Amino acid sequence: MVTRAIINLEGIVQGVGFRPFVHRLNKRFKLSGFVANTTRGVEIDVEGKKKNIQNFYQNLQKELPPLAKITNRHITFAGPKGYKNFVIGESKKTYPQTVLVSPDISICNDCLKELFGPLDRRYLYPFINCTNCGPRFTIIQGLPYDRPLTTMQKFKMCGSCKAEYEDINNRRYHAQPNACSMCGPEIELVTKSPGHQVTSIAKGIQALKETIGLLKTGKIIAVKGLGGFHIACDADNTAAIKKLRLRKNRPFKPFAIMLSDMKEITKICHASKLERDILTSPERPIVLLKKKKSSKVNEALAPRNNYLGIMLAHTPLHYLLFFPGLAEGQSIKSLVMTSGNIADEPIEIENNAATNNLKGICDYFLIHNRDIYNRMDDSIVCVMDNKPVVLRRGRGYSPMPFLVHKKMKNILSVGAELKSTFCITKNKFAFLSQYIGDLKTYATFSSYKQAISRFLNLFAVKPKIIARDLHPDYLSTKYSAELGAENKGVRLTGVQHHQAHIASVIAEHRIKENVIGVSLDGIGYGIDGNIWGGEFFIGNLKKFKRAAQLEYVPMPGQDKATQEPYRMAISYLYMAYKDKLYKLKIGFIKRHKPVIYNIISLIRKPSPLTSSAGRLFDAVSALLGICDIITYEAQAAIELQMCAEKSQTKRAYSFKIKETAGLFIIKPQGVIREIVRDLKKGAPKEEIARKFHNGLVKIIERLCALLRKQTHIATVALSGGVFQNKLLLENLVKRLKQSGFKVYYNELLPTNDGAISLGQAVIANET
Ligand code: ZN
Ligand code: ZN
Ligand code: FE
Repeated sequence: MVTRAIINLEGIVQGVGFRPFVHRLNKRFKLSGFVANTTRGVEIDVEGKKKNIQNFYQNLQKELPPLAKITNRHITFAGPKGYKNFVIGESKKTYPQTVLVSPDISICNDCLKELFGPLDRRYLYPFINCTNCGPRFTIIQGLPYDRPLTTMQKFKMCGSCKAEYEDINNRRYHAQPNACSMCGPEIELVTKSPGHQVTSIAKGIQALKETIGLLKTGKIIAVKGLGGFHIACDADNTAAIKKLRLRKNRPFKPFAIMLSDMKEITKICHASKLERDILTSPERPIVLLKKKKSSKVNEALAPRNNYLGIMLAHTPLHYLLFFPGLAEGQSIKSLVMTSGNIADEPIEIENNAATNNLKGICDYFLIHNRDIYNRMDDSIVCVMDNKPVVLRRGRGYSPMPFLVHKKMKNILSVGAELKSTFCITKNKFAFLSQYIGDLKTYATFSSYKQAISRFLNLFAVKPKIIARDLHPDYLSTKYSAELGAENKGVRLTGVQHHQAHIASVIAEHRIKENVIGVSLDGIGYGIDGNIWGGEFFIGNLKKFKRAAQLEYVPMPGQDKATQEPYRMAISYLYMAYKDKLYKLKIGFIKRHKPVIYNIISLIRKPSPLTSSAGRLFDAVSALLGICDIITYEAQAAIELQMCAEKSQTKRAYSFKIKETAGLFIIKPQGVIREIVRDLKKGAPKEEIARKFHNGLVKIIERLCALLRKQTHIATVALSGGVFQNKLLLENLVKRLKQSGFKVYYNELLPTNDGAISLGQAVIANET
């Protein structure tokens, strides 16, 4: 008996060698029929013995190609059509698009072998790739994913490449970016001094040799990567690193470095099995690794930091830069690879713009002519609580969607302001954008708007609801109003910032029960008009009730108080001591004597009030003399954590709790006084910092226990920028679990404001 089955698969099934895989698989089951790409995924229409069809269907799901992901499958049986053989059919354009787009993937081992195989026709060719590796989303201009809709369209494949592309048994069958040195993109080393034209130095292998030589002499070189430019210099050359810090106006913010293999990494940093797995995964993110005490990690790379951001080479071009066989004896061991942008602007993706905008920073530019269409920053991952936690979601991860708990309305959520992302939802998918950056400059805002319109097109979504932050001055909020006015029938809805944080955890983990949501954050607009950031909520996506908060304290000088943490320290000291603070015999008071009066008059004016946990970290950091003025976001809090990690004390400061009108208030005055007492005693700052962290863990656990008693809710969701603090998160999770709580936090998406847009979308879906 012959049966016919129609199998529809959705997910990442295009551009990952799926059809040849089906073709090969079928050789074992001898079915007749066809496999074809559709605008929704892949359709397989086959006839044969029912038993064979069933086995085929099972193995299809078991033996998927490495990059394929199936999110939806469907099989129906029908009357046989009498197919004679098995073929790969024409692409069908029938349904509305929901094809998923693959993220960019690091070079695979097969391609690496060829890259360094002297007899291979692609020996040392910087753009080698195959069906299992190479650029994807960054070169895709439209769907279906086919060469004419990528930035590879301008290169006409040579005979050899074309033959590979068309041969179903070849590992480059339908590899859209397929190319070789005869027909594909090429690299070029150029220079541009201010006021001068771009001058070409060398092309091809020669360009690589020159680049390595120049890096060795301490030059700073912009290198075009998969999702944008990096700025590179020799990570073993202190003078070069210092020059780069000066030119980039970035005195302290850590630089990420790139190494060519794991051996080099373990010489300088600790790397667990899990951390190694993440480093070598096809996504190849930057991983934050703990520096080895014994190693001589150059302090200029990540000053005052216990961690170093490290990534492995992930494109053939990177591998070539580390190849010792290229420039006689001059091999590079490690490279600084920092984002190729000027402060607060998006990373450069285009050759002319890069040479123009980065000419004040870079001496040379290693460019190429495979255009980057979609901008993509490096992803950052940190292992916390023995799990990979994504702190910046870009290359390798985006634009893979999140599968959410239920069918969603068509929503666009525009995110917040810092570390901006947006999100669009359709069916059960939430397409979270890649990390876009801080929406503070015109250039970043333009890049954000462009990315929104591209996502809406690519995933064919017409939003019915636009969700946004409550902050009226965010550019994202203003832009949502514009979009709302342009599109009739679209409803705008505001979502409170910290409720969005908690909702992002609920969405990510598909939590069904009510939660105690703990949001410790920088700052966000509160429902009462104050600046929130240390909030406890009870509830679910439909309704959150604020159950507790950190006590409000004035932010003298508003935004300036974020830039200058010593202002927050004065604010907290004033809260604890009022005018007696002048008499405190601690270094902080001596250091700031001349400005204290002015800051206090700002406090009395009055200044805006905040419950931000981030600002409390800032205050303690300044109080301990660790960081008075920041040069990058969250510097004071990060350096406080680094300091605390150096102490092993179990002792803790004790925060008090006060209940008023059903709202618990965490009172920090006592802790501030304890810190001052310890400072006067000359206690080491490491110990004070640690006691502060321990105290926070204790009070959060106590509050959660109080709320559980009241509400019988035993699930805790943690989110907000402060939870990027590994010391705090790990100890808190441990303690909450010991007290019998189920604990969730962001893992696949960042716990910082990169998560806001997803949270906005799932809350808006309930309205
Ligand atoms: Zn490959
Ligand atoms: Zn070719
Ligand atoms: Fe936030």
